Amino acid sequence: MDDGFLAVIEGRYTQLYHQIRAPLTSGPVTGPIRVVPRTSVPASGTGFFVNIGFFAGLFLGEVLAIVIVVMQPGASEEQIEHVIKRLEEIGFGIHLSRGTERTVIGAIGGVTEKAALATSGLEAYPGVEKLVPIQKPFKLVSREFRKEPTVVKVGPVEIGGQEVVVIAGPCAVESRDQLLETAEVVSKGGGAILRGGAFKPRTSPYSFQGLEEEGLKILAEARERYGLPVVTEVVSPEQVSLVAEYADMLQVGARNMQNFYLLRAVGKTGKPVLLKRGMSATIQEWLMAAEYILSEGNFNVVMCERGIRTFETETRNTLDLNAVPVVKELTHLPVIVDPSHGTGRWGLVTPLARAAVAAGADGVAVEVHPRPEQAWSDGPQSLTPERFGRMMEEVAAVAEAVGRTCRRPSAVLGSKQ
Ligand code: PEP
Ligand code: MN
Repeated sequence: MDDGFLAVIEGRYTQLYHQIRAPLTSGPVTGPIRVVPRTSVPASGTGFFVNIGFFAGLFLGEVLAIVIVVMQPGASEEQIEHVIKRLEEIGFGIHLSRGTERTVIGAIGGVTEKAALATSGLEAYPGVEKLVPIQKPFKLVSREFRKEPTVVKVGPVEIGGQEVVVIAGPCAVESRDQLLETAEVVSKGGGAILRGGAFKPRTSPYSFQGLEEEGLKILAEARERYGLPVVTEVVSPEQVSLVAEYADMLQVGARNMQNFYLLRAVGKTGKPVLLKRGMSATIQEWLMAAEYILSEGNFNVVMCERGIRTFETETRNTLDLNAVPVVKELTHLPVIVDPSHGTGRWGLVTPLARAAVAAGADGVAVEVHPRPEQAWSDGPQSLTPERFGRMMEEVAAVAEAVGRTCRRPSAVLGSKQ
C-alpha cells in the first residue's frame, strides 16, 4: 500500500575530499537521539556505516554529509515529519522526493562529524526502512538519490517529461535580422526553445567572439516576439549574472565543462542549465560536473551529449549515442543530444537526431540558419529552414513510435533545398 522512504547518508568535506575515512563502527547511538526499536531492520540497513564506509573527512571538524533515508511502505506523514525534524535538528537541508513507489528523504549539509554520525540512529526510527549508500562518486545526480526522472522547466517548456523537446537556432547571434528570421523558422517548425550564442568560446582568438550583451538583447526580443524561451552560453563566472538577466537557460559549453568556478556560479543562480559534455570527458567526469551544479542547490540541469574526440576524422566529432541510455541509467537528470556539433555536417544531423530520440533522448539541439553558406560560424552543420522542417517531421514520427510526443511544423518552411 505505501511507499517507503529512502535515506542515504554520505559525507564529504566542505572543500575537498582529501581523505576517505576508514569505515566507522556502528554502535549504540547515545545523546539526544531517541532510539526506537524496530521489528525488522533490513540487512542492507544494518551496520550501514560499516558496510559502505562513511565518506567523511575532517575539515575543520566539519563534513559535508549526504544522507538518504528510505521510508517503509506505509510510513505515515507523522513518521516522515519525525525523520525530517531530526535531520533538520542535526543541521541538514532537506530534499524530499515523493515518488509513486516510494518517498526518499535526501539530507544535505555541512555539519560536524559528530552530528553526521548521529544520523545512524535514524535507522531505528519508526517508518524508516533503511539508509541507502550512494556508492558512486556523484551523489545528488545519481539515480540512487532520486528515483523519479527530474523534469526541468525552461519557461513553459518541460524537458524530461513526455514531450521530446527540440532546441534550435543559429550557432551565433549575428544580427537582429538574422536572429529574428531564424526565431520565426524555429517557432513555425515546432522548436520549443531558441538557441543562439552571444558569447562564443572560439578555438581561435581571431574568430568572431559573439555580439555579447547586444546579442543577449536580441535574444530577449526574439523571446518576446515568438514566445520561445531562450538558451545561450555563458563562458565565464563574471558573466553569469548578466547572461542570467536575459536567458531562460544557461548553457555551459563543451570547452567549459570542467570550469568548476563557472559550474558553481551557474549553480548559484538556480536557473536551468544546459551542460554540454566536454569533448574529451568521460561520462563520469560529465556527471561530476553536473554534481557541482546540484551541490549548489540547483537541480535544474539538462545533460547534452555533443560528440567526443576519437581517432575518427571523417566527422567533426563522434556522437556518442551510448551515452544516452547510460546516462539515463546513472542519473535522474534529462539528457538531450546535439547532432550538429556531434557530426559537423548538416547531412548527418537529421539521421542522428532520429537516432537520438529512438535511443531515449529527452530532446535534441540543432543549429539552424536562414542561409548557412553565409553563417559566421558552423555553417556546414547548420540546417536550412526547409531541412529543419523536414527534420521536425521525422523526429516527431520517431518520438511517437517510442511512445512520446513532439511538436510538428505548423507551416511549410523555406523554399530551397
Ligand atoms: C554551441 O552549442 O554553441 C557550442 C559552442 O557547442 P559546444 O560547446 O558543444 O562545442
Ligand atoms: Mn556552433
